[in-house]
Amino acid sequence: MKRETVIVLDFGGQYNQLIARRVRECNVYCEIYSYRTPLEQIRAMQPKGIIFTGGPNSCYLPDAPTYSKEIFELGVPVLGICYGSQLMMHLLGGTVEKAPVREYGKIEVTVDCSSKLFTDVSEKTICWMSHNDYIAKLAPGFAASAHTDNCPYAAMENVEKNLYATQFHPEVLHTKEGQKMLSNFVFRICGCSGDWKMDSFVEQSIRSIREKVGKGKVLCALSGGVDSSVAAVLMAKAVGEQLTCVFVDHGLLRKNEGDEVEAVFGPDGPYNLHFIRVNAQQRFYDKLAGVSEPEHKRKIIGEEFIRVFEEEAKKIGTVDFLVQGTIYPDVVESGVGGESTVIKSHHNVGGLPDHVDFKEIIEPLRDLFKDEVRRAGLELGIPDYLVFRQPFPGPGLGIRIIGEITAEKVRMVQDADAIWREEIARAGWDKKVNQYFAALTNMRSVGVMGDERTYDYVIALRAVTTTDFMTAESAEIPWEVIGRATSRIVNEVRHVNRVLYDCTGKPPGTIEWE
Ligand code: GLN
Repeated sequence: MKRETVIVLDFGGQYNQLIARRVRECNVYCEIYSYRTPLEQIRAMQPKGIIFTGGPNSCYLPDAPTYSKEIFELGVPVLGICYGSQLMMHLLGGTVEKAPVREYGKIEVTVDCSSKLFTDVSEKTICWMSHNDYIAKLAPGFAASAHTDNCPYAAMENVEKNLYATQFHPEVLHTKEGQKMLSNFVFRICGCSGDWKMDSFVEQSIRSIREKVGKGKVLCALSGGVDSSVAAVLMAKAVGEQLTCVFVDHGLLRKNEGDEVEAVFGPDGPYNLHFIRVNAQQRFYDKLAGVSEPEHKRKIIGEEFIRVFEEEAKKIGTVDFLVQGTIYPDVVESGVGGESTVIKSHHNVGGLPDHVDFKEIIEPLRDLFKDEVRRAGLELGIPDYLVFRQPFPGPGLGIRIIGEITAEKVRMVQDADAIWREEIARAGWDKKVNQYFAALTNMRSVGVMGDERTYDYVIALRAVTTTDFMTAESAEIPWEVIGRATSRIVNEVRHVNRVLYDCTGKPPGTIEWE
């Protein structure tokens, strides 16, 4: 069965992934492709609709990203957003030039006519703008459908040809009725039916994994994080005992986390798979002794992880498939999908093992955004506390202990972190903040306890709110919650005598400390 697909054609915009996510929130499958993708390839995919993204360039300059104008002749509806709208006008005979007044931020847009794109949208509606150029003259056959004080063509359309364009960004949450507009585009203009649902994704994946794997053996590295857990369960449901999951406890996990993972995936858990837990704590501590530079620590942890995993894999012998928890943003960011130049290694633990014998990699979550991974997890019956787990870095507590790592310091940060999480949850703040944890600073300070001088460690508490983890704000946790956590930490965690709260946003800080 062919699922209906909307294609995002990426011209280097910063919100390309956001557009695809918003479309998928309408239950319509959506994929991102670079503007360098040949027209034939696009045609062959038989998309229900095409969306041109924004982009940093000016479309009238010589080297600006462009596309063959035949794309407008495919009979597939096109929506151009910002740069995409300008390019559409430019290619079809309109005029784009530097705007007399650039617009940036939330701007009131007035809808001028009844348009399918604006069905059920208010006549005056707040939209997000970010442009230096503007459309000075429409291409022939187009009519204006919205304007702002400084922008005569905030939206335009050629109804007959199914071509639509907006100077503003409907995909950004600041555009109040943006989701409605995108939903109008995919349903009213592209005629999608909305067949992208998680239950059918799960069902279809299980079927196609079975087909692919046959009687083969599958190996999966389980970290206990959301992606690898969901991938593992999906594989387990598909191929059962043909799957072996190796869980490396590197001694840098949160308090009790190793046991929690084992409870779910181990022999007493609900799934039928081979589970191997490797308790490699001491090995990691030995390697990390005396190392304090963050990047160096990350490297050691990543490499050692692979070594341990390889050793276990050797015991198992040749496998046919290796499972990776790659998700769609990793694919896009590694430059395969859209136009993004950010190349980041997208493996949870910093690379593929060199010495594991396998024929092929399976990436069962490759098409999913994070929120979809979570929904698939729920669909698969994975417990909430695993599905909604906070982001946790691969090197784990190794980068929440500033400076050198020792077993003793791991204990301190684990205990302090557990208390902080408990108090945040008790106060009902766990739903209001997106990430919160304790870090152990490399600083000791003088204190007094029981009339005696102490010279002990300083814990920093962190809690941030964010929607995308690219930017974040320090959360205004009530003083009494911080106070309660502080007094418990200094009382219950040996060798900690002082607690600080991190008030720094991102930027200029990062969410993690190292
Ligand atoms: N670079 C174009 C402009 O400044 C488009 C900007 C955008 O797509 N956000 O108008």
